[in-house]
Amino acid sequence: MENCIFCKIIAGEIPSNKVYEDEDMLVFRDINPQAKVHCLCVPKSHFATLSEMNEKQAELVKKCLAKIPEIAAELGLSNGYRLIINQGKDAGQTVFHLHIHILGGQDLGEKLI
Ligand code: AMP
Repeated sequence: MENCIFCKIIAGEIPSNKVYEDEDMLVFRDINPQAKVHCLCVPKSHFATLSEMNEKQAELVKKCLAKIPEIAAELGLSNGYRLIINQGKDAGQTVFHLHIHILGGQDLGEKLI
């Protein structure tokens, strides 16, 4: 997708600090971390939000969710972690290519769920 920063990262046109990659997903460190460990898990297929997701893309999200515990273990998040998917304006979504935030490496507290 033209002008999508995450598509450009997936294509290697913009550098990223990669943590994991396979044919379906890319995981890289967030450029503006909100926790000691803050990564983004991005399905390689472009779609902006869950409401735009087709069945094939839903399978990709399922694969992402299934893979995240393994990636989290490699990141040393043995005490737990938080996953966030921002959807739309009210959630503060800034990049309109679906992504799952992986936050951890510290006590995240009980606020914001
Ligand atoms: P969201 O607000 O859920 O759309 O989150 C978008 C996230 O992408 C933010 O946490 C940004 O810091 C992050 N981000 C934007 N550009 C980059 C980039 N080039 N490399 C890594 N993370 C980025």
